[in-house]
Amino acid sequence: MENTPYSRFVLLVLFDRFTEDLKKKKIKAEQLFKELLAEQAAVCSQLENERVLLKNERKQRDEVELELAALAQDFAKKELRLEKTSDAKEYGALRNECEALIVRRTAYEERLFELWKTLEELELKVASMELGYADRLKKIEDALELVKQDVQGLGAQIDEREHARDPKQVQGLETELAMYESMRGRVANPAVSLVLNVCSGCGSVVSRIDQAAVEHHVLKPCQQCHRLLFDPKAVQEEKEIL
Ligand SMILES: [Zn+2]
Repeated sequence: MENTPYSRFVLLVLFDRFTEDLKKKKIKAEQLFKELLAEQAAVCSQLENERVLLKNERKQRDEVELELAALAQDFAKKELRLEKTSDAKEYGALRNECEALIVRRTAYEERLFELWKTLEELELKVASMELGYADRLKKIEDALELVKQDVQGLGAQIDEREHARDPKQVQGLETELAMYESMRGRVANPAVSLVLNVCSGCGSVVSRIDQAAVEHHVLKPCQQCHRLLFDPKAVQEEKEIL
């Protein structure tokens, strides 16, 4: 295409579109980065939670074992007194106390048995989590690094393009350029191609007069969405140049 104000305008639009695409990619990459950070935190906290559970169960087991040891001592003392006493009343009382101790001991033993079972399961679970833990974290860290580089690279490209952007190159179409510039940032794709007789920005049908103008490379705003309409053939030609 010839170097006309129209072609320079189309080139500027395509340039901006490419930059917008890069911005969208950057937003996606930033989102992915956040998701990976959340996953990393979840992996860490899952293991941490199981470790806390394990610690609590161990503490309970130790407490029950201490109780059982104390009961055993108490029981031994009472048995000794039972052997030595000659008083029938005291003997009866001690027998009762010993029986009560046996009931308590049985309850503690059952509790201890349950705790051992739970502990065994928990220990296996934590061990298997720890085994895969380093690998999972490493994978997440590697992915985080890649995505971070991606975000930085895209950011640098966007900065470079924004710096290189030069709307002054579009001379001769000052009014259209001013419209385009004021719509940028407020509307997605402020200049769009006319596809057959339809505005590709909002989908509304464009009048025959405006269609003819667009075909003759006059920038016409869509009556519905006010986006500037241009000839798709011109875009195709410019894309080939790019
Ligand atoms: Zn429109």
